[in-house]
Amino acid sequence: DPAMTLSVRVVPYGRDLRLLILRDVSQQQRLEQMRRDFVANVSHELRTPLTVVSGFLETMIDADDECTREWNRSLVLMQQQASRMQHLVEDLLLLSRLETDSSRPPDEPVAVPTLIATICEDVEHLAVQKDQQVSVDAEADLGLYGAERELHSAFANLVTNAIRYTPAEGRIHIRWWSDKEGAHYSVSDTGVGIEAVHIPRLTERFYRVDVGRSRDSGGTGLGLAIVKHVLNRYEARLRIDSVPGRGSTFTCDFPLSRICRTRIDSVRRPG
Ligand code: ADP
Repeated sequence: DPAMTLSVRVVPYGRDLRLLILRDVSQQQRLEQMRRDFVANVSHELRTPLTVVSGFLETMIDADDECTREWNRSLVLMQQQASRMQHLVEDLLLLSRLETDSSRPPDEPVAVPTLIATICEDVEHLAVQKDQQVSVDAEADLGLYGAERELHSAFANLVTNAIRYTPAEGRIHIRWWSDKEGAHYSVSDTGVGIEAVHIPRLTERFYRVDVGRSRDSGGTGLGLAIVKHVLNRYEARLRIDSVPGRGSTFTCDFPLSRICRTRIDSVRRPG
């Protein structure tokens, strides 16, 4: 059957013999494919009604002349929840796209320092709210061959997490540099840190160290799963170093083959 998928294992059997174990995993793969399609379809179907609900809520909040204060407060809460659902749906769609797309990422030159600058602008209001400092140290002409949108989601997720899991007045430092092994992007924070037992599981979908804290801080639980899937496409690796109570560093290691040298003014601004 050409549609059949087999998994093959060879195990030693006695001194000179080998056992060849063939397992039909077609059914398992079909189920996995159905699960992916289902998540992608549901997310897609939820997108439109959510946009409508969120849009109307916004109009109602804006036109609040006759509303009592209590009424308006409820509208604001509803709008916040609708917006959270929208983020979740967008993340689910992005993740299922990354999971099903096995092609190599595009080879456009991406000016990473410019990308980092855009991310910093986007998160500035979050950092200001918490009185945090975000600093950057980037190799100016170091770029990557890839797709800007994918790299943006991965890099931005690490920065928003750093802000989210760092208390007020903390510091966040972004580094982008190269050495003989490749290019490296890291985000360090002086935040809550992560106990070692959790680290291997952080990139699983919806895995959270502290469910309450993560929900309250507005995360979807999919951020690091997205980071991992993007990096897989670039044959890049995610390293996580953390000291509970002191802070964490998330580092993405890209292979030399992905590096491109860019002049800042020769590459268009992202966005
Ligand atoms: P979430 O939306 O919950 O932040 P993520 O996939 O981005 O989901 O992260 C998974 C979990 O990893 C988080 O819930 C949090 O417990 C932990 N985590 C991620 N980044 C950090 C960080 N910089 N410091 C401490 N914990 C972190």
